[in-house]
Amino acid sequence: MINKIGDINFKEIKRISPGQFYSMKNCAYKSLLAEAFDKKPLLPLSASAYFGTVLHNMLELMVKGIVESEDDFNAEFEKQIKTLEDDLQNKGFGFFVPLKIKLKNFGLKKIQLKKHLRSKPEKPIISSDVRFDSEKWFESQDKLIGGKVDLIIENGNNIEIIDFKTGAIAQDCLDDEGAILSDVKNEYKEQLKLYAYLYFENTKKFPTSLSLVDLAKQKFSVEFSEEECKAIFDEAKNLLKTTNDCVNTKSFSAIPEEENCRYCLYRPACSFFQEKLETDFTYNDVAGKINDVRKFQNGNVSVFLQNGEQRLTIKNFSGEKFDALNNVKNKRISIYNLRKEAIDFVYAATSTTVIYEQDNTI
Ligand code: SF4
Repeated sequence: MINKIGDINFKEIKRISPGQFYSMKNCAYKSLLAEAFDKKPLLPLSASAYFGTVLHNMLELMVKGIVESEDDFNAEFEKQIKTLEDDLQNKGFGFFVPLKIKLKNFGLKKIQLKKHLRSKPEKPIISSDVRFDSEKWFESQDKLIGGKVDLIIENGNNIEIIDFKTGAIAQDCLDDEGAILSDVKNEYKEQLKLYAYLYFENTKKFPTSLSLVDLAKQKFSVEFSEEECKAIFDEAKNLLKTTNDCVNTKSFSAIPEEENCRYCLYRPACSFFQEKLETDFTYNDVAGKINDVRKFQNGNVSVFLQNGEQRLTIKNFSGEKFDALNNVKNKRISIYNLRKEAIDFVYAATSTTVIYEQDNTI
């Protein structure tokens, strides 16, 4: 099937969540596209990203004390995986199923997740000075910033905000002397500081500690000051305002850099990225006018694109794509999620490859 974008109906973003802030800061245009497409991605997520939602749901149920025993865990986990796999089949992503075979770390992550069952301190305790609040919604007074905090532990004057992550929390970076050290990702630090300020705005108290907990139950502390939290809070509001101003003035800008675009699920609708594909062949995406479509004896189809002076070959499409591709011959298309072959400018289709017909004005 060949997809088409059509007109993009940009609209203002009503509220920014702490989890969205970092991505919006890196490329606000991505957030505007997400809003315009009602947060429905234009490209498939990775299998790990889909699985991550199940892991996070399970953590939430364990923290809330809804899933307590190993039997509860197994039943709920099976149920959630089945629901996800059915959903993937319905979306046409059956190639991700069964997840336990298609995902390398499926078993390990399940075992790690199960360890949270024995996490006594994270279970709600009713009669104690210690208060546990899970999945609690906080929003700023003007409602411009809002999000759910995974877990708050209040023990007298000690207030800890905890966010659970199912992927890596830390990343390697260089210190002043060039030595490699591992530090919590900036996006997570900023997310927690925003939660801290939201908590303050709602309770008039600042938390005393901010922590991240991963699937293996490792805890990472995030240092913070009240001034820093306030500064990030103001920055987030300002970013939301300037981003929404672009909708009114219809003057958009973007930051089409590899670290932003590689995992952006709105690439097919981004004119800045399309422009980049005209000259940059480092991505696993290509664009160009279809010169030719050929079907080979083994049934596979190749498509040949002309991009400026450059001729691109994309192999390995299944036979059923032949007619659809022929119907858009001489038109511009863009193809996403390809695999680069050993020869320059030759690519192969993969199970997650998606084709879009492009507006010829791009
Ligand atoms: S493709 Fe890149 S430049 Fe375009 S919206 Fe996504 S992140 Fe921004």
